[in-house]
Amino acid sequence: MMGMQQSPQSSLFYIGINIDKRVRCNHPLRRVKQLIDFDFAYNEVKERYGTNGNVSVPPPVILKLMLLLIFYNVRSERELMDTLPERIDWLWFLGYDLDSEIPNHSVLSKARKKWGIEIFQSFFERIVLQCVEACLVDGRKIFIDSSLVDANASNNSVIDIRNLKHQLRKNYKKLEDRLEDKSESTNPSLTYEKKNNRYISSTDPDAAIVNRGKPKLSYQVHRAVDERSEIITATEATAGDINEAHLMIPLIEQHKMTTGATANTVVADSKYGTIENFLSCHDRGIHAHIPDLREAAVKRTAKLNIFSEDHFLYDTERDVYHCPAGNVLKPKSLHVSRQSRDYAARKKVCAVCQLREQCTQNKTGRTIKRHLRQEELDKMRETSRSSKAKRDIKTRQHLMERSFAKSTRYGFDEARWRGLWRMRIQEYLTCAIQNIQVMINHVLKPKKSAVAVAIAIKASTGRILFVLIEAISGVFGRQHYHYESFFLKSLMHIKFKLKTQLQKTYLGNSPWRPDPEFTGLRQTSINEEEWDKA
Ligand code: SF4
Repeated sequence: MMGMQQSPQSSLFYIGINIDKRVRCNHPLRRVKQLIDFDFAYNEVKERYGTNGNVSVPPPVILKLMLLLIFYNVRSERELMDTLPERIDWLWFLGYDLDSEIPNHSVLSKARKKWGIEIFQSFFERIVLQCVEACLVDGRKIFIDSSLVDANASNNSVIDIRNLKHQLRKNYKKLEDRLEDKSESTNPSLTYEKKNNRYISSTDPDAAIVNRGKPKLSYQVHRAVDERSEIITATEATAGDINEAHLMIPLIEQHKMTTGATANTVVADSKYGTIENFLSCHDRGIHAHIPDLREAAVKRTAKLNIFSEDHFLYDTERDVYHCPAGNVLKPKSLHVSRQSRDYAARKKVCAVCQLREQCTQNKTGRTIKRHLRQEELDKMRETSRSSKAKRDIKTRQHLMERSFAKSTRYGFDEARWRGLWRMRIQEYLTCAIQNIQVMINHVLKPKKSAVAVAIAIKASTGRILFVLIEAISGVFGRQHYHYESFFLKSLMHIKFKLKTQLQKTYLGNSPWRPDPEFTGLRQTSINEEEWDKA
């Protein structure tokens, strides 16, 4: 019989409703709640609250609300609060009941201003630490890259600061107020000077105009990702026009601080291949798998159709270069800021040289630049051209693209709020969520690690070989061939060698231990001589 739906009538009383039972057991928020402790927020921000006055929304709840905002990519805080009473899973995650009072949306912006970025940084670092404890971070090899994020401001808000100073309008006053507001909430140690200070946005003065096809107000986020499970171990946000190469060493330092592990290999694209970065890596004992910026200079020289620097031989003892015409280029001038020295032949010598056209277009002759630490630089560049480095550089492309692509799910490509310090908060939350996702996949759904799989395959191969040899020796042993003594002896010898190898490889240091019955490992007391006697 067909059922007919009754006209809707809300019940006055619901008895025995348990929100916990309404949230499915594999709900992602249930896993987040299971893994992450939000109560640390009480301690982190207790100094920022007074002892009298209105009682605030508990800090862990505010942090969870911000997490929901990014996790579900909700457009605004107002929308989050409007949707909250309709979402049982969100209510359950926040520890609310069906009839709990929903906080006002302004609670979140007030909390951000009151707390600053430290608590969000601490949240991100705690998640990284949990990933380290769950063996999701190897720490030895990191991949570095950056990406642009659109600022929450229109291009129409950009003004030329030089004209502005003469205007002295009300808007200028407002802008100055906003600039002052910025300095209160920004940690000066984390500030990187914007390159273009002439054109600023009156809506978001921290954002910078970046022209990549089309001029746009942008921020830039920089990340270091660990190789093993693609955990983001370090992150930083800056104005869009900052040179990403300057962020490489701070990211390496941050990686060390968050994971406690020192990276021995850093992989990045050619924008990071500056002399400073190569030398800094050399001083830290880090392999820099970075395409060298010098290769671009070599290509430029090739276009000019003149001798490359490789045609000039350096004489270490005399500290001079020998040019293709056999003349000597002596040290000429020292550039302290660039830490390099120019080498040149005498002007007269170059002027009458027959190879001049192939060597230089400069009227004063050819000059070769040499860094004061050229040997170390050459060593680092050599490493960056190895096959291992090339493989890593190829891997980096996909790995970093994947990391940034995953972030777009959380609204990463657009700044939610205005100001650099708020951009940093957004980035810390986004990275924390991405790491939590990896943790959920690996910790709650453990997979066989690649190493365990490799060991198991190796072990199985060894076991199969052992069984085969045992079977062959058994067959020949029963059939009494006239050459049995020699053949069986050889088989027994191979069997013994294989058994010893199995014993060495797998006993004690492997998750897999061979079955003693199966491999004959019980007879460990027997030695090679006894086998030979047999
Ligand atoms: S132009 Fe000057 S540096 Fe170049 S090959 Fe001739 S002498 Fe040597």
